[in-house]
Amino acid sequence: MDLFGKLGQNTDLQGAIGLDNLGNQFWNLTPAELVEDAILMGQGMLTDTGALAIETGEFTGRSPKDRFVVCDEKTENSVWWGDVNIKFSPEKFDALYNRMKAYLTGKDMYVRDAYACADDNHRLNIRVVTETAWSNMFASNMFLRPTDDELENFNPEWHIVCAPGFKADPAIDGTRQANFAILNFTKKMIIIGGTGYTGEIKKGIFSVLNYILPHEKNVLSMHCSANIGHDGDTAVFFGLSGTGKTTLSSDPDRRLIGDDEHGWADNTVFNFEGGCYAKTIDLSREKEPQIFDAIKFGAILENIGFKEGSSEVDYSDNSITENTRVSYPIDYIDNIAVPSIGSSPKNIFFLTCDAFGVIPPISRLTKEQAMYHFMSGYTAKVAGTEMGITEPTTTFSACFGAAFLPLHPAKYAELLGNKLEGTDIKVWLINTGWTGGSYGVGSRMKLSYTRSMITAALTGKLDNVSYEKLPVFDLEFPTSCENVPSEILNPRGTWADKSAYDEKANNLASQFVKNFEKYAAETSEAILSAAPKVMV
Ligand code: ATP
Ligand code: MN
Repeated sequence: MDLFGKLGQNTDLQGAIGLDNLGNQFWNLTPAELVEDAILMGQGMLTDTGALAIETGEFTGRSPKDRFVVCDEKTENSVWWGDVNIKFSPEKFDALYNRMKAYLTGKDMYVRDAYACADDNHRLNIRVVTETAWSNMFASNMFLRPTDDELENFNPEWHIVCAPGFKADPAIDGTRQANFAILNFTKKMIIIGGTGYTGEIKKGIFSVLNYILPHEKNVLSMHCSANIGHDGDTAVFFGLSGTGKTTLSSDPDRRLIGDDEHGWADNTVFNFEGGCYAKTIDLSREKEPQIFDAIKFGAILENIGFKEGSSEVDYSDNSITENTRVSYPIDYIDNIAVPSIGSSPKNIFFLTCDAFGVIPPISRLTKEQAMYHFMSGYTAKVAGTEMGITEPTTTFSACFGAAFLPLHPAKYAELLGNKLEGTDIKVWLINTGWTGGSYGVGSRMKLSYTRSMITAALTGKLDNVSYEKLPVFDLEFPTSCENVPSEILNPRGTWADKSAYDEKANNLASQFVKNFEKYAAETSEAILSAAPKVMV
């Protein structure tokens, strides 16, 4: 085995980020080498399809309350400070990083050179230094992979240091608890400690791009998936977690651009990433064949369970978390766009998982409604699997991704508004959530129906059908759609108790209105008039 040349002290890390006195440095190992290390260290095992299964530890999801941004000259007046972007002082950052470096002394570390943004004009080189082999492999799966030639002269712009084993001490370090993820735009570093959840690495760079692209390059960054049809038409799918971005963008009839993070420049939509990160809870080959088949050697499964006495994955096992995941390089999906770039979108879908069962499964938005819903960023989550909790909780997350936005939402809205103006881009609102009643009474929209509605929209089959308007939300929905029973298109019609529907719709409408109050002062009358009208 030839690990030499990849092993030993390389002074690059010392120069750039002051990381010296490490143990071995393993540079850009192949997936096979990383899988071997993970298994040898007792941190993972192979499944019967060759995927690596690991556990991320105490954290099986991101920890938004422990995500900080260094507040200094560069960021003080540009970042949208608050609960999402929590201030951290430059001095405290340095002190914490020093303690982290002390922790890493003598430790073997994995180094990965990668980049973000498939569009060369916006390429961002990243060097990821991780404590575990599997999180290094995650970075390799999720970011774009340089060629051997590119690796020879690789010049990193941003550095990520990820040490799940290093626990901060709030009393000394000024963190909230032992885990943290801190973005430093001046030093161009992300430091992560106390958590092994891989999503912190991925969404850390997403947050960085959500700052750089709109702020410095006038490019709209988007929390969305994207794909391309036979005619070269691009579609993007915005949505919060669990609303269907990954699932619905994998479509055998359309080439995948990416499943989660994109930029919209003058005439292009480009993927930030080089991989996908799909949910695997209750995954089946029948419902999601492309994702299912991507789970092979090179893919990393997180926090899954196995069927008794076997190495066959039990996708129904939620004993560790509901948020079981798999990461894989994007080329594990067979019909992808190469490179991961499309033209400006012809269709935009806003995905919401409305657990109240109020929003139509598909509706066509006016430009004003599009802006209103973009800024609202509505979805309703089903309250976990906790016993006794039956009420879904409403979430409004601006631009369908407030948790990753370093700038004020108005910035992204302004960019989207400019892009929509004077075009015939169609914007659709899709409810992938409940029908026939709220959570507990109704049921989740069948995936096959949602897919059919999206296909119909994309192929122009909803252009010349009749539409009806939903009261309160004023949403225009088609009265017929190929391969979908007509009776489900009007949500009110699916409820046995119409007055219960009206009450729920009103209630949700007032939550929309209340949430929007904070934007009202700076928002145009036209957009404000797209708000739902609460009936009395
Ligand atoms: P994240 O931002 O966390 O990656 P996401 O938007 O990519 O979230 P998906 O991974 O696509 O979300 O998750 C959608 C989940 O909902 C999948 O597990 C999918 O099988 C399930 N699902 C059930 N019904 C539908 C439906 N009608 N439309 C879309 N997804 C559905
Ligand atoms: Mn996803």
